[in-house]
Formats: sequence, structure tokens, C-alpha cells
Amino acid sequence: EEGSNLTVAVRIRPLTEKDQAVQGGASNIVKIRDKDLIIHSSSLGTDHIFQYDHIFWSCDSSSPIYASQEDVFTTIGKPLLNSAFQGYNACLFAYGQTGSGKSFSMMGQHLTECVDIDSDDYCGIIPRFCRDLFDRISKLKSHSHVAVEVSYFEIYNEKIHDLLATSATKLPLKVREHPMWGPYVVDLTVKPVKSYCQLREYLLMGNKNRAIAATTMNEKSSRSHSIFSVELCMSEGLRKEDNRRSKVSLVDLAGSERLGNSYNTDDKMREGVFINKALLTLGKVISALADQKKNQFVPYRESVLTWLLKESLGGNSLTSMLATISPASSHLEETLSTLRYACQARCIVNRAVVNESPHE
Ligand code: ADP
Ligand code: MG
Repeated sequence: EEGSNLTVAVRIRPLTEKDQAVQGGASNIVKIRDKDLIIHSSSLGTDHIFQYDHIFWSCDSSSPIYASQEDVFTTIGKPLLNSAFQGYNACLFAYGQTGSGKSFSMMGQHLTECVDIDSDDYCGIIPRFCRDLFDRISKLKSHSHVAVEVSYFEIYNEKIHDLLATSATKLPLKVREHPMWGPYVVDLTVKPVKSYCQLREYLLMGNKNRAIAATTMNEKSSRSHSIFSVELCMSEGLRKEDNRRSKVSLVDLAGSERLGNSYNTDDKMREGVFINKALLTLGKVISALADQKKNQFVPYRESVLTWLLKESLGGNSLTSMLATISPASSHLEETLSTLRYACQARCIVNRAVVNESPHE
């Protein structure tokens, strides 16, 4: 509908061997009927029915409605690229419990090896987005110019870690807010890139740094958010006013599993509450934005993630959420909680405004 710049999609991954290994084996509780996503379980009194902008059925590749990595990218990734070229900010975040397919959707199967889109069908949204970006740049008219810069960082326990830093000292970085251009990370590595090939090296480097951090600190991989950002600076003529700047942030959120019922009893789960502060705040920000009539205060600054995403969640940008779920009966509660979170998000209505470059 007009004016709605938020897209909410749900993706259902296949049953894994781990799912089957639970006592009695897990059954599939998710069904699709037309535009409805149905949760059917004998432990529920009635079926639960949800609707979203898109439902990606990725359970079995033999199904006629099977959604591949390419399908998911085409539906939710490409529109972000289109709006970036028009000068709008954009943001996509993957939300769901650990093991539900966030990283698979965002990055792919072989995160630290090769991200060769032509030979790897499992490449996720980020490498596809980046390759398409350079494809489009190569087809631009000769008087147009687009400069591309990327950054890649993680937020763990409200602290920012640069995934592209080459220096040995990897102290957490700080956030500051520019009066006109909004929040940014101080001293973050920002790499100019001229080709997909060059960009891919940074993706691999960041993924490797992420993996190293995850193995030295056991649960870090499920409890940190990773943010990969691409900034475009487009010039179409000689006039400075014709320049446009836009930023796309592609976010693999921390596992949502502690959000459930436990987040009200904050003492019990001190660590969990702290770690998931961003998800809690994201929920609050989403509700405040959804409840536009009340002209509510939007608590962006209550977490580092939402503060940094401020320009992508408010009125100045396009936002997409990909909620990932497991089809297994053993994950019923977490799945329902993810589906409800995504439903609430669907109510946000953003009004986008074209960004202009700073006039120096
Ligand atoms: P998360 O990042 O949410 O913790 P992962 O993306 O690591 O979850 O996925 C967990 C496991 O499920 C991985 O082994 C991954 O390869 C597999 N998986 C997830 N989504 C899919 C999918 N759509 N198709 C095939 N395998 C998937
Ligand atoms: Mg992951």
C-alpha cells in the first residue's frame, strides 16, 4: 500500500538432523495455505494463522513453492538495492532463534571460504546484493558515477568490534551522533571498493574474524549482532546538489531465544537481558513507530544497535525484516514468539525522504 516502506517476510528452513534427533523426532508444524502461514500442533488448542508480505518456504526443494537463496534475494534484497540507487537508506535485518537460518539467509552456507555466486547456489543475500550492485554500476551512463564504501562490525554486550580492523589493538569502538548526518561509529574501518571481487575479500575477512571471535568465546556467535554496511555516493552531473548518498545496512541479529517469557524477570537473566538489550529495544522502537498516532517517543538510544540504525528505522529509510523459523515441533514456542514479533513489526509505516550529500 502507499506509504508503507516496511516489508516483513518469514522464511522456513528445512528440518535438520538435529531436529530429528530430539526424543521421538520432530515433526513439521508449519503449513502454507495461500497467503497464510499456519502453525498446526496438537499441543495448541487451535491453529495459529499469520500473514506477512512474503512467506519463503525453504523446507524441501521438491516443493513447487520452494524458495531458493536467489528467490529470497530477488524478493527482498533487490528492492533495497533499487531504493539505494534512488538515494534512500535501507536496512534489512534477520531475526530469529539460533539455528533458524539467519546467517544462511544473510551470508550463505560457506561463510569463510568462497563466496562465488556463480558456483555456489547457497550464497546468501549479502554477496548477491553486492554483486548486483556492481553489475548495476557497470551499466550506468558514462556521466554517472557511484563510489562505494563498506564496513563490517559486530555488537556484543553493547560493545562494537570492527571486523575489518587490521591493527592489533581491537578495542571496542564508540558511537557518536553527528548533528546532521546522525549516529556513526568513531574510527570504524571503512573500505572504498571498486569491484565485487575486491569487496568479496572484505566479506571473507570479516566472516573469518567473526568466526574466530565465536570460537574463542563460546556463545558469542549466537549473542552478537553483525552489521554489514554499504554506502553509495552517487553523482550524476557537475552540480553538487545532484549528488546523492545512501546507506544500506544488512544485519544478522543475535539469536532471539531469550526474548520469550524470560525478559520481564530481569534479575534471573541478567546476562541474557543485557545481551538482548538490542532486540528488546528494537521491539520497543518498532512499537513506537507502529503507534504513530500517539506521536510517541522512540527510544533509539537505549541500545547501540537501534541507535546506529536510527536513520534506517525512522522516517528516512526503507526497512525489511526477514524472520527465520524452524519447522520443528520442538521449537514451537520460539517459533510463535518470532512470528508474533514479526507481526508487530509489520505495522510500521515509514515515509522515506531522499538523502542529499553534504554540501561542503
Ligand atoms: P542462525 O544463523 O539463525 O543461527 P544458521 O543460518 O547457522 O542459523 O542455520 C542453521 C543450520 O541450518 C545451518 O547448518 C544451515 O546451513 C541450515 N540452514 C538454515 N537455513 C537453511 C535453508 N534455507 N536451507 C538449507 N539449510 C539451511
Ligand atoms: Mg548465525
